[in-house]
Amino acid sequence: MLHTSYIELSKSALNNNIQYMKSKLNPHTRYSMVVKANAYGHGVEDLIPMAEQCGVDHFSVFSAAEAVRVNKAKQGHCELMIMGFVDNDQLEWVIEEDISFFVFSMERLKAVEKTARKTSNPARIHIELETGMHRTGFTEDELDEVMEIMKGNRENIKLEGLCTHFAGAEDFSNFHRIKKQIANFNRLTTLFKNNGLVPRYHHTACSAGVLNFPESVMDLARVGISNYGFWPSDESKLINGEQHIGDNDPLKRVLSWKSKIMSVNRVAEGEYVSYGSSFMTNRDSLIATIPVGYGYGFSRNLSNLGHVLVNGKRVTVIGAVNMNMMVVDVTDVPHVKIGDEVVLIGSQANRTISVSSFSDMNNSMNYELLTRLPQHIPRYAVV
Ligand SMILES: *Cc1c(COP(=O)(O)O)cnc(C)c1O
Repeated sequence: MLHTSYIELSKSALNNNIQYMKSKLNPHTRYSMVVKANAYGHGVEDLIPMAEQCGVDHFSVFSAAEAVRVNKAKQGHCELMIMGFVDNDQLEWVIEEDISFFVFSMERLKAVEKTARKTSNPARIHIELETGMHRTGFTEDELDEVMEIMKGNRENIKLEGLCTHFAGAEDFSNFHRIKKQIANFNRLTTLFKNNGLVPRYHHTACSAGVLNFPESVMDLARVGISNYGFWPSDESKLINGEQHIGDNDPLKRVLSWKSKIMSVNRVAEGEYVSYGSSFMTNRDSLIATIPVGYGYGFSRNLSNLGHVLVNGKRVTVIGAVNMNMMVVDVTDVPHVKIGDEVVLIGSQANRTISVSSFSDMNNSMNYELLTRLPQHIPRYAVV
């Protein structure tokens, strides 16, 4: 083991999640797997070929830089969509590579109009409509001009999509806001239709859209977090009426994160452990050191709080999480020795450390914890 920890990616879990989410779509709906932020921390280079083997042939990213990586990692023929940032100096590359992308401002649309005259391919764009999130997208008063530009450039600019994004479809406290967004979207897309502008795809749904608002599933769904085995929220679980305990959960965690014990020491009762004085032993203790710290993705907020698995037992992080190391109390675990496997996320014997047990504890979301897993940790595909 060259690195101090490693990540396993389960092929069967990934396939299970993709098929489950696909089963919630309409028969004609295209499945786009969202792989932004290093595939939600899972690792683009490892995950893309696995996803292709599960039948995914459309990927969504946030930026041109991410598109470059997916382009290199893909093995078969698949389509790419950039949902966010493309700088003007990258437009030509994106168009030549036949990558479709969101256009959400007049400045961008005019830059596309100019660039697409020079490129060998037409630009394939998704017009993002502002429907109520108030982040990006064309507002209604801009649409006449947008439609004029589209009509005047039918050869150079193809209307790949009309789309919008929901302002929190996972949380039912946003129910009316999302319903209004769907209604606004349907109204605005009718304007395009009345002008003879019909896109290849209408699309609005993220994972929570698919799970909570079936009417938001249109010609294409942009599914992110659920591919990786996570419900966008407890509401999404409930509304889908599934049994969600242990093995019955229809979504399965793809990622496990593991390391090894680096040293084992005895500490007498009444001694402070690690930097400072946040933890004092109240018995003669056996402590084990693990070569993973906040510099390697294990949050410092988990000092004296986090848990890991050692020899099938759940043990507590004691003292501060350091940059490269943390210490756990293994006094109650029999036969602990250097080199024993440590599970930071995942299962060992019949115990599991879930991502949410982590993220609830330090008050961040699954999304944030996953995407902060460093890229340098090696990833391995497992069954
Ligand atoms: C991230 C993202 C998604 C996927 O969201 P999940 O909640 O992970 O399914 C879909 N659409 C857009 C525009 C996004 O930025």
